[in-house]
Amino acid sequence: MMRTNYAYPLLALSLSFILGACSDQAKETQTEDDQPDKNQESQATKPSDAHWSYKEGETGPEQWGELDSSYAACMNGSEQSPVNIEFSQVKTSEKSGNIEIHYTPAAFSLVNNGHTVQANAEGSGNRMIFEGKEYNLAQFHFHTPSEHQFNGHHLDMELHLVHQDANGELAVLGVMIQEGKENENLASVWDRLPKEETEKEVSVEELDLQPLLPKDQASFYYNGSLTTPPCTEEVKWIVFEQPIEMSKEQIQEFQQIFPDNHRPVQSLNEREIIKD
Ligand SMILES: [Zn+2]
Repeated sequence: MMRTNYAYPLLALSLSFILGACSDQAKETQTEDDQPDKNQESQATKPSDAHWSYKEGETGPEQWGELDSSYAACMNGSEQSPVNIEFSQVKTSEKSGNIEIHYTPAAFSLVNNGHTVQANAEGSGNRMIFEGKEYNLAQFHFHTPSEHQFNGHHLDMELHLVHQDANGELAVLGVMIQEGKENENLASVWDRLPKEETEKEVSVEELDLQPLLPKDQASFYYNGSLTTPPCTEEVKWIVFEQPIEMSKEQIQEFQQIFPDNHRPVQSLNEREIIKD
């Protein structure tokens, strides 16, 4: 199911972790179809077996924490993501240059996991230095509307670039997307958007993410979580203030596959959001 050619074993581990709920959803679907459970992995992956969705109701975001014991943080966590970023409440940091991004052209494989379209890194060429630690890009994916809010408002979409360091710690770079000019940097991904949920991956060779990022890299920082079950905390969030653009057609192409795949904003509680 998962490729095993990762240079970093932890990266592969984390990917299966992040993808866990998604591939397990496919297994659950099989079970619902009354097929006997022949999959030997289903026992091993039991903790993240529960199907979840973005729809209101039994499997929706308000219920995630009750769907499986391993999802408890979705309900009980105190540092959950996404959050509303209220610009007037943000604390300004004296030190800037907290983040250095070193992206180079690299190969990705696209998959529709039933929750989003995700591009999994096939190597470890894309790096980021954050607070002195090096993280590798594991995967990126999209949400519509945006998951974070700026001053109480959603933007059209949000890109999440999920990074992991050698100890398995996660740092996610969030990039807001607003309607505007066609985004040529994502054209090769959009040409191949997988419309149906499948474990089959579609390869995109030589994708350069560096020009995709906003020119102004002023960012918001806070401690949060995964925005999908199991909602694991201790995830470092970096959200660029400047949005990037995609055309109305590009946004609509994604929304035809996923009309709404965002988790509502969570309480900030004791946390502060820092801006440099
Ligand atoms: Zn995300």
